[in-house]
Amino acid sequence: MNPQSVFCPNLACAARGKQGQDNISVHSRKEKRYRCAVCQQTFSATKDTLFYRLRTDSVQVMLVIRCWPMGVRRKRSCRRLAMMSGR
Ligand SMILES: [Zn+2]
Repeated sequence: MNPQSVFCPNLACAARGKQGQDNISVHSRKEKRYRCAVCQQTFSATKDTLFYRLRTDSVQVMLVIRCWPMGVRRKRSCRRLAMMSGR
């Protein structure tokens, strides 16, 4: 288990999504749980895949925001790109 490779999944946490900030420590190796020092929450190591999905979603949101001021034609290809990067 490597606390540097995970980040806090708590939506209300200020450190959410931030990797390698030293806020995550191993809570229980036996139960494979980590603990966040910022929000004091523990979470399962197996949740990792879910975080990555959340991360992809935020990338897509960013892409859509970036596409917004563009013209229609570019916006369309931009959205296609956003879709390809995700689901
Ligand atoms: Zn947290």
